Amino acid sequence: MLLNPYVYKLLPSLAVSGDCVVLEGALKLECFTKGAREFACEDGISYRLVLSNVGTAVLIAGTVCATVHTDCDRCLEDVRLVLEGEASILAYLSKEAVEDGMEGDEYLLAEGPEAGVDLAPVIFSALVLAVPPALLCREDCAGLCANCGESLNEGPCGCTPLRCDANERPDASDDSGASDASGATDAPSATADCAIPIDSPFAALKEYRF
Ligand SMILES: [Zn+2]
Ligand SMILES: [Zn+2]
Repeated sequence: MLLNPYVYKLLPSLAVSGDCVVLEGALKLECFTKGAREFACEDGISYRLVLSNVGTAVLIAGTVCATVHTDCDRCLEDVRLVLEGEASILAYLSKEAVEDGMEGDEYLLAEGPEAGVDLAPVIFSALVLAVPPALLCREDCAGLCANCGESLNEGPCGCTPLRCDANERPDASDDSGASDASGATDAPSATADCAIPIDSPFAALKEYRF
């Protein structure tokens, strides 16, 4: 990840209670990762921040937005999503002004005669917090066949009947006992139809990191 600093000087324009500045623009960022997941940005991160002196500190609040691409959790197809986040953090102009009980990562300290603060991490963290827990190309994405790896969104793959045979063996007492046992308790009986459970390829994929 390459996020250039974006230092903004709070003084003298925000020295007095009630002073207010609006900052709008876009941060350059090509890609970033969250855990093992990669996101590619279409046009960096756009932001609109309102900085206002609230007496004891400068409140930095506003919205950030980026259009990003990543892989679908289930089928690995490209997912395009618009992330919209909200930023809100206090920047204190001196250590003495920091309120008791505030953790170090809950505020910014603007030091030096011009009281510069780096807004790039503020904008970036607001964006990352807007990443949803599940990233799917579509809500009902069928994922990949756990057997052949083909996407099931275009219809069933050729090996579906084989999977059904395996699932219907009630006492699968083979070597991979542990995983089979847990699977059997979750799914009381592999009766009904011959469809591969949607969860199964998803669960398999979760064990890998790309
Ligand atoms: Zn998908
Ligand atoms: Zn298949």
